[in-house]
Amino acid sequence: MSKEKVVILGAGYAGLRSLKEIQKKNLNVDITLVNKNDYHYEATYLHEVASGAQPPKKICYPVKDVVDPKQTTFIQDTVEVINKDQKTVTLANNGDIDYDYLVVALGFESETFGIKGAAENGLEMVDIPSALAIDRHINEQFAKYNETKDESYLSIVVCGAGFTSIEFLGEITDQLPRLVSQYQVPADKIQLTCIEAMPTLLPMFPEKLTKYGIDKLVERGVNFKIGAPIQEVTKDEVVYKAGDKNESVKAKTIVWTTGVRGSSVIGRSGFDERRGRVVVEKDLTIAGYPEIFMIGDVSAVMDEEIGRPIPGTAQLALKQGDTVAENLEAKLNGKETKAFTFKSLGTVASIGNKEAIGEVMGSYLKGYPASAMKKVIADRSLLKTGGVKAVVSKGRFDLYH
Ligand code: FAD
Ligand code: NAD
Repeated sequence: MSKEKVVILGAGYAGLRSLKEIQKKNLNVDITLVNKNDYHYEATYLHEVASGAQPPKKICYPVKDVVDPKQTTFIQDTVEVINKDQKTVTLANNGDIDYDYLVVALGFESETFGIKGAAENGLEMVDIPSALAIDRHINEQFAKYNETKDESYLSIVVCGAGFTSIEFLGEITDQLPRLVSQYQVPADKIQLTCIEAMPTLLPMFPEKLTKYGIDKLVERGVNFKIGAPIQEVTKDEVVYKAGDKNESVKAKTIVWTTGVRGSSVIGRSGFDERRGRVVVEKDLTIAGYPEIFMIGDVSAVMDEEIGRPIPGTAQLALKQGDTVAENLEAKLNGKETKAFTFKSLGTVASIGNKEAIGEVMGSYLKGYPASAMKKVIADRSLLKTGGVKAVVSKGRFDLYH
């Protein structure tokens, strides 16, 4: 009898972890992994590439380091659509592939909420090419300042003040002295503005902790505009609401980090979705399709207590990857699947390389200890999925000196 076919789409946190755990179980199935690139990137460090703090190679490792060729075939290709009723997946270059079980882990895209000009003029931060494009763009604008003396070339607007924006601001302010010296631009003419729609910054943390983090960024020159929903983005201006009138900031660099949605493949494939996410059943399959698991940022896991989905994070995606392996094994053996459970270990937002604020297992941390804790947590998960080789070459050992 031919082996059952398991297809995993996406080699991000969710997809690679599920692959790793499924392979460990030696399930006598044919596994196929499909991913756009032949490398995995740690999306949680994209802001470091976007700010020029790290080269892409520091946050990437080859997919083949996780693939066991005896069990898994890797196809480097782009998923176009999932044909859920035919149990096939259409790939851009390799045509259709069929499956008995499918793990969908295609991750996140940038959310523009339909704001005029955001998609065309905002720089998104969603993968390695887009993060590199931000770094390249900032360097080009700083170089152009010297040709034109137009101060908008030294103005950077970061849209939204979620964790991605805050972490990017932390890194870019770390990098400013290097940029100033490289391009010989006047430091006092650099303008950094962060525009947030909500009236409160980082509301998930106690006020004192948030103040500590925000004060660090203000000391480094960031100007926050809060309660200021962005209305429109042009190629060198961001227009936002200030009370009952509109105001704007001129900037040649506009970083668009107002939130994410799940992969557009989900909507294209006719799933019952909202912003690219499908509400999953307790065992991480989807209603009506017990052979399809959805995990990571394409899934919405309901938090029963608050009646809202748990925010999509790498932490959640990794834990879902573990559960998928167990539930796939249960299904193959005709056993009952188990309900996915998740208890967050906490949340830490970095403010540059040596500072952070956060909550870890009920304790609030700030400064260097918070930064070190974030690196330890990241190194541990890198070790579990990528193995010793990945952690030795990509790990954050700078905290140990
Ligand atoms: P992804 O990591 O997005 O992986 C999806 C994979 O699918 C990628 O390899 C991609 O190339 C591939 N892919 C996408 N589309 C296709 C296609 N059509 N065909 C083939 N392949 C495709 N979370 C935390 O828990 N802690 C943090 O500190 C943290 N920091 C963050 C910092 C930043 C700057 C950002 C942007 C996010 C951060 N997050 C953090 C959130 C976290 O990165 C995401 O929740 C996580 O990456 C989701 O994992 P995933 O596996 O679902 O998707
Ligand atoms: P987010 O949704 O968490 O934050 C986006 C911010 O943009 C919000 O504060 C929102 O109010 C604001 N915004 C939206 N529309 C706006 C508008 N028109 N004008 C002005 N402001 C607007 O998105 P994110 O920061 O990209 O994070 C995405 C996910 O990744 C989240 O689940 C987050 O928790 C996770 N993440 C975690 C970390 C970490 O744990 N350190 C770091 C980055 C991201």
